[in-house]
Parts: sequence; C-alpha cells; structure tokens
Amino acid sequence: MDNFDIGRPLGKGKFGNVYLAREKSQKFVVALKVMFKVQIGKYNVSHQLKREIEIQYHLCHPNILRCFCYFHDESRIYMVLEFAEKGELFSHLRKHGRLSEEETAKYIGQVSDALAYCHDKNVWHRDIKPENILVDGLGNLKLADFGWSVHDKTKENRNTVCGTLDYLPPEMITSNTCSTTVDNWAVGVLMYECLVGKAPFEGNGQKETLDRIKRCRVVYPNPISEEAKALISKLITLDYLNRAPMVEVAIDPWVRTRAPSFKPVFAKTHPHH
Ligand code: ATP
Ligand code: MG
Repeated sequence: MDNFDIGRPLGKGKFGNVYLAREKSQKFVVALKVMFKVQIGKYNVSHQLKREIEIQYHLCHPNILRCFCYFHDESRIYMVLEFAEKGELFSHLRKHGRLSEEETAKYIGQVSDALAYCHDKNVWHRDIKPENILVDGLGNLKLADFGWSVHDKTKENRNTVCGTLDYLPPEMITSNTCSTTVDNWAVGVLMYECLVGKAPFEGNGQKETLDRIKRCRVVYPNPISEEAKALISKLITLDYLNRAPMVEVAIDPWVRTRAPSFKPVFAKTHPHH
C-alpha cells in the first residue's frame, strides 16, 4: 500500500470499495479495489473470490479490464485494476436513453471479441449486463466483474443460479441448466438494450419477465435496421445450441459496416470451426 497514493472513491462493491489510486514511482493511475476479509468470510465466498481474481489476472485482452496485480494484508484483499475513466456502460446508457447503431456496433464488436477470447479459454462470464461493463477514457469497453464466471473443461452444464432476471436465458428458467451459450444470449439482450433503451423482456414484476423470456418474442418499439434485427435474432434464440458463436458476431456484417474502425483482435486470428 505504501506504493500508492489514494484518491477519490470510484464505487462501492459487495465486500468493500474501489478507489482511484496512483502508483508513486511511475505515476501510473489505476483503480484499487479493496475488500474486507471479514465480509468475505461472512458470506463464505473466499473460494469463489479467489477464482474470480485468478481468472481476471490471467486474461489479457484490450476489452477485458486488466488486473495488474493483487495482494493482501491482515484484514484486506487488494486488486490493482486498470482504471475505466467513464465508469459503467449502465450509467452511459441511462444518460443517453438509447445509443446509435454506430456506437452499439462498436460495443457489441468489442464485447463479442472479448468473449470469444474467454470462451476459447473455457471461461464463461455468465453475468453480462451493462452494470458489469466499464468504459475507458477513449470510449472503449472493458469487461469487468468475473464473480460468476466459470472455468471448467469437463462440465457442459451446471445447476447454479447465474445472471440477473432481464439477462437470464430461457433454459435457466425451464430446466435450471446454465448452457455454455449463456453469454451469447446476454450479448443479444445487451445489443437490444443499447438500441432500444430497455431490456427486451422487461415486464411488470418478475413473473411477467420470466414468462416473456420463455416465450422469447422480441418486439421493436423504435425503428432498427434489418441487419441489426437479424443479428439480435441469432443471439436471442430459444435453442441454446443454435446461438451464434462470439467469433462470428465480432466479424458480423452489421458490426463491420456500422463500426468500420473497430478491428477484432481475437476473432480475426481465430475463425470459427
Ligand atoms: P457489485 O456486486 O455491486 O457489482 P463488486 O463487488 O463487483 O460490486 P465492482 O463492480 O468491481 O464491485 O466495483 C463497484 C463499482 O466501482 C463499479 O460498479 C464501478 O462503478 C466502480 N469501479 C470498479 N472498478 C472500476 C474501475 N476499474 N474503473 C472505474 N470504476 C470502477
Ligand atoms: Mg460489479
């Protein structure tokens, strides 16, 4: 801790707080996430947290929030994270209502390329939503919060509750299984939410939302291009074996034409087989 100057708080987490910080010798600005061991112990999640930190620490992609290092003392665990100056995509979205096809295409390309990279390493995020995606000073997305992610080579499906209602895939509701295409579904929901300004299955109360998800009927209250709708329908698909892989989304014609300056770093070297 002696190596850092601590600045303003950036946010509040489950087990502690996140602060702006600067490494003293290099003057390198970071976000310092501080978590209290007592809190972690109370919720019995030290194993899950350890996995979250290790997964994030080993991922290296321009659209995944870097964890530069981590350490601990008697009472706290510290994560030294890349600083995302513009904060949560959630706030950005609420501030602007909805986003243009051009801006959305860049974000969907970036998120898909990051997830293609994760999936290739057998890492599933499982909690994709605008609250868990940060934006840096240049307007590039940084996937964060690997708290629910699974790194597993053996089990295809697992019976755990993952994700929050608006982004929950239908198979989680009907058979309580979490498929390996849970992120693909969520990217479709994210793309819809960016273009429309609200999640596709939002209802009055939880029951209505769950019913809408199961029926999987997507309606568009505002005009959206046919190419965008086509891509959304490849992701928001009832049959979880049939959702478009992330490598394909990252090079989709809609992404390419609406965000010509976006260049996938993973998908371009790893075509889908
Ligand atoms: P929650 O379960 O509520 O999401 P958490 O324990 O996962 O909490 P984080 O989401 O990592 O905690 O951090 C809490 C908040 O702090 C974030 O929602 C975000 O607003 C802010 N924050 C976290 N990391 C960064 C960062 N690297 N750069 C900028 N802001 C950040
Ligand atoms: Mg969070």
